[in-house]
Amino acid sequence: MNNILRIAIQKSGRLSEDSLKLIKECGIRFDNGAGKLKTSATNFPAEILFLRDDDIPGYVEDGVAHLGIVGENVSEESDRDVNTVHKLGFSKCRLSIGVLREHDYSGVQDLEGKSIATSYPKLLGKYLSENNVTAQIHEISGSVEIAPSIGLADAVCDIVSSGSTLLSNGLKEVETIFKSEAVMIASKHLTAEQQQLLDQLLFRIKSVQVAKNNKYILLNCPTNAVDEITKYLPGMKAPTVMPLATEGWCSIHSVINENDFWENIEKIRLAGAEGILVIPIEKMIL
Ligand code: ATP
Ligand code: MG
Repeated sequence: MNNILRIAIQKSGRLSEDSLKLIKECGIRFDNGAGKLKTSATNFPAEILFLRDDDIPGYVEDGVAHLGIVGENVSEESDRDVNTVHKLGFSKCRLSIGVLREHDYSGVQDLEGKSIATSYPKLLGKYLSENNVTAQIHEISGSVEIAPSIGLADAVCDIVSSGSTLLSNGLKEVETIFKSEAVMIASKHLTAEQQQLLDQLLFRIKSVQVAKNNKYILLNCPTNAVDEITKYLPGMKAPTVMPLATEGWCSIHSVINENDFWENIEKIRLAGAEGILVIPIEKMIL
């Protein structure tokens, strides 16, 4: 069992789908029949455990699982002794404080002496003490947003993504105390073989992530526009420029970053490019 990686992911919830997708995009195949709690990969020395997200940091600390995918919010709150080895870019959300909409809030000092309901007592406690505020932390495990309207607490501290849950409970968001996304955590007691497997997995994850941020682009242009167009298409090393069967025309192939895409595509078109094709890249090895 020293040369197999046991990876814990959330059984069912907001992290599950993207966690499974990531593992599959890394080329790891397994049968995840409904209701299974554990499965073995067929083409990589790995097992997948399906758990509640709150339990994952503890399993990884104990070495029962070697790796885990959880929200940073859960990992930080658990305060377990694990390594955070990579940010995964999905399940982005924030931990925020909300107060009743009619409350005239002017700053964090307004929370002095108030009661705040949360499922994140450690992260909230740290934030309050950093801001020299003493408040009563009311730990509850779910439906936190309802607490102020039923008189259980003056404020809440909970996970927000769009803010619509706060709004529909008559609350407004007043402080963000922690920004979170899914992360990969690892046990501090991996064998040399397991560390090697983790390095292989991270290499694959990074290749998938880089590919998602880039597109393959092909276009035709007059030969005299090549210099201008290639300024916007640096490619991985340099763009490929090939003559077309039509005299005075070329084809350019390159890679373009998603963030620069719309701005550059306009400039490329104005410079004379035609027949522009943009294709997703599945993996990119740098
Ligand atoms: P479990 O049953 O496994 O304990 P849970 O109910 O505690 O699940 P989920 O609601 O599935 O947890 O959320 C899992 C994680 O997804 C959260 O810890 C957080 O990191 C992230 N998350 C929560 N809400 C959102 C959201 N609205 N948008 C994006 N990510 C979110
Ligand atoms: Mg949970």
